[in-house]
Amino acid sequence: MQSLSHWINNQAYQADETCLDDLNPADGTLLARVPVAGLGTVNQAVAAAVQAQKAWAAQPVHKRAQIMFNFRGLISAHHDELVELISLDNGKTLADAKGELQRGLEVVEYACGAPELLKGEHSRRVSGDIDSWSEFHSLGVVLGITPFNFPAMVPLWMIPMALICGNAFVLKPSEKVPMVANRLAELLAEAGLPAGVFSVVHGNRNTAELLIDHLDIQAVSFVGSTAAAKAIYQRAAAGGKRVQALGGAKNHAVIMPDADLDNAASTLIGAAYGGSGQRCMAISVAVCVEDGTADRLIQHLLPRLDELKVAGSQQQEADMGPLIDEMAVQRVGRALDEAHGQGAALIRDGRQSPLLPERGCFVGPSLVDHVQPRMSCYQQEIFGPVLSVVRVNSLDEALTLANQHEYGNGACIFTESGAAASEFTSQMQAGMVGVNVPLPVPMAFHSFGGWKQSLFGDLLVYGPDGVRFYTKRKTITQRWLKSTGHSTAFGQL
Ligand code: NAD
Repeated sequence: MQSLSHWINNQAYQADETCLDDLNPADGTLLARVPVAGLGTVNQAVAAAVQAQKAWAAQPVHKRAQIMFNFRGLISAHHDELVELISLDNGKTLADAKGELQRGLEVVEYACGAPELLKGEHSRRVSGDIDSWSEFHSLGVVLGITPFNFPAMVPLWMIPMALICGNAFVLKPSEKVPMVANRLAELLAEAGLPAGVFSVVHGNRNTAELLIDHLDIQAVSFVGSTAAAKAIYQRAAAGGKRVQALGGAKNHAVIMPDADLDNAASTLIGAAYGGSGQRCMAISVAVCVEDGTADRLIQHLLPRLDELKVAGSQQQEADMGPLIDEMAVQRVGRALDEAHGQGAALIRDGRQSPLLPERGCFVGPSLVDHVQPRMSCYQQEIFGPVLSVVRVNSLDEALTLANQHEYGNGACIFTESGAAASEFTSQMQAGMVGVNVPLPVPMAFHSFGGWKQSLFGDLLVYGPDGVRFYTKRKTITQRWLKSTGHSTAFGQL
């Protein structure tokens, strides 16, 4: 068991504060005590960031990029250790943790291109002798507040982008998975990041609010539940700050009658149950066009689902680890009870999966058929290993259903028809859309974010939008009059 510290000025920082328990979701043992920062620690971290930021922004951009290259090398050198830490604290399998770290690393790699990304734009001769150009300037001190389900990847969506743009970054990680943040902080310091430029402030909602309200915080990046995203968007915007707040999801997969069901079922198993369904891009609804498609899909899913091994995340053979905590187990249980009570068919109830470990927050994979849009298990984000099957009669009906849902993060279609795929990609109201790809997570050189209640703000995270979010633009218009060969009026005096 560790007593975690905050991280300020490239060193551990402790204060006399209350602490929370960070429990291992796989067995309930105490992993760490997490301090809950109050105003004193918040002020220390932000003051250190303000102090360091100007010199950091003044460094040549290729020097900042060089530190990102070093950071990239250090993440690779400590790959296995980081993967184990992610898996230990969050509960996800080692394979999942590996995937998470890889996606985070890709953003670090993208940020290594800082000199190219921050080159600005130039227009020569916009009029007469006038040239005009736009420059990217840093914002100052920016804040990131991150969720439990990706302890490394989501912070890495933000940190490299904010830093290469010349900002200082304060991270408030999820209190449920606080350990990885400190390790990333140590690696950034080892990479050569100057003291004060990156801080970790641990704590809960109250800590997050103290940080959001701090007058020296210029921008807030948030990833988490929709209720918090909305509240943070309103709070930070009311304080005149720039905000990107990514919220929850209910991602639909539309299965057409002509789909390759073998492929659809194989990939849906990973998309619905990977990470125990605790992914913002998890597919939680399979919308089957025609009853026969639903029946056949379920027949393809069941043998695969029954083979899934639910076990302690660090066991190599585990396909699914535990949920994050007991509250999550209760929430999934309630969703299944309500589904049953409202008339859906529980084809598999994950609470009764055979061979569930006795200790820890384990729920096996659940499959619910004949789900109707009025049911709470359809309307709410369950955020657990539950796939709901909804039956419709046409692609139009599937699109209307998915588009009426309050969330619009990701969506996909399984089909062999180009016309259906084209109709789906053009009509689907979601930020990330896949064709025969159930988890259409954009690469680091695009940007990630949803529509509707899945994103509050204008700019997405990482990629080109990340550069835009973490910079303000200055456009300069310049004219130098040509020399006439005559001496100046001043010279004639
Ligand atoms: P959460 O909203 O409970 O907490 C996220 C972070 O916000 C934590 O650090 C927490 O301390 C802080 N927080 C919580 N409420 C707050 C408030 N009112 N004001 C300020 N800070 C607050 O989310 P979680 O349970 O950690 O994560 C799961 C949720 O995150 C799911 O809804 C999932 O869909 C969503 N998520 C979304 C994306 C995306 O890209 N859209 C990615 C990952 C997770």
